[in-house]
Amino acid sequence: MKRYLLTPGPTPVPPEVLAAMGAPVVHHRSPDFRPVYERCLARLREVCRTESDVLLFASSGTGAFESAVVNLVSPGERHLVVSAGSFGERWIAMTSAYGAEVDRLEYAWGETPDPDDVRSRLAEREAKAVWVVQSETSTGVVADVQAMAAAAKEAGALVVVDAVSSLGAVPCETDAWGLDVVVSGSQKALMTPPGLGLASVSEAAAAACGSTPRFYFDWERTRKAQRALDAPFTPPVSLVAALDVALGILLDEGLEAAFDRHVRLGRAARAGVKAMGLELFSPDEDRSAVVTAVRAAEAAEIISGVRTRFGITLAGGQGDLKGKILRIGHIGWFDVFDITTALAAIEIVAADLGLDVERGVAVTAALEAYEHTQVA
Ligand code: PLP
Repeated sequence: MKRYLLTPGPTPVPPEVLAAMGAPVVHHRSPDFRPVYERCLARLREVCRTESDVLLFASSGTGAFESAVVNLVSPGERHLVVSAGSFGERWIAMTSAYGAEVDRLEYAWGETPDPDDVRSRLAEREAKAVWVVQSETSTGVVADVQAMAAAAKEAGALVVVDAVSSLGAVPCETDAWGLDVVVSGSQKALMTPPGLGLASVSEAAAAACGSTPRFYFDWERTRKAQRALDAPFTPPVSLVAALDVALGILLDEGLEAAFDRHVRLGRAARAGVKAMGLELFSPDEDRSAVVTAVRAAEAAEIISGVRTRFGITLAGGQGDLKGKILRIGHIGWFDVFDITTALAAIEIVAADLGLDVERGVAVTAALEAYEHTQVA
């Protein structure tokens, strides 16, 4: 059966990128690798829109995030963590595990964090850094990181952004918005298999590193080595070569064009879901360009139905949302026909389950929303 991957990570990988993975392995300190490494690091800075170093780690996104925690958190320091879903909760747990005195700004899953709340919380209690999630993949909410970063800067705090599911899909202006650290991973909008974590690190963040013991994830060690194109440890050379090709594809399309495409993919998914009569869980707004979450008591049956009948992998809910929502991912190597494939299958399975869905309208609505909408 033909398979379709429609989760918000890992995501489908273009054939050119897979082919790069299959090339012979080269030595990481040889002329075979250095130009690839150099180009990949330069492209990463371009995608992050930063002049700062973007540090690469052989890890998932969580590992790259842990690099931020071990470098910036010292026991007893106060840090403000904004949480509105599974990943915000993970960062509360991680900063707490390293001994931070964590000030939590918590929202119900599915709510959108309010930058004014960040401002007033920081006015009550200062914090060394504010930790925010740009795209809360568990709910489909994309937060206004620019405004939250502005609030943090006013209070003199560093800003650390989880952009694991958003980098390359929605705007993330690292330097222009004053984001000190932006963390991401290879397996989402960057169209590469899982295994590479990355963190852009501003001079201010590098200068603010604390006393927590660290070795592999020590930023200074990797920063110094990368500047000399000499990785401190063996990098996953095949993944770096693959990421380089994927970033080339993304930059050839153009970041602005890619952001527009993601807005339209989100519109298409939401239009289709609404047209067939299902209820959206994620906000019905253009910022929801990463994942479309649908509320349905039959979510688990729909997910298993589309998988067994049509080879389509969708994501379910996490935590308390398990069994209550299904999520259609649309970041990275996606076009509107990926969305219509998912919608058509959901429609068939939902109707067979006895849900009151209108047949034959979702695909048309999605195509219309994708084609006939101008992105501002
Ligand atoms: N943060 C967000 C917003 C994510 O979507 C994910 C992955 O699903 C992570 C962090 C964790 O990344 P990883 O699974 O690569 O460790």
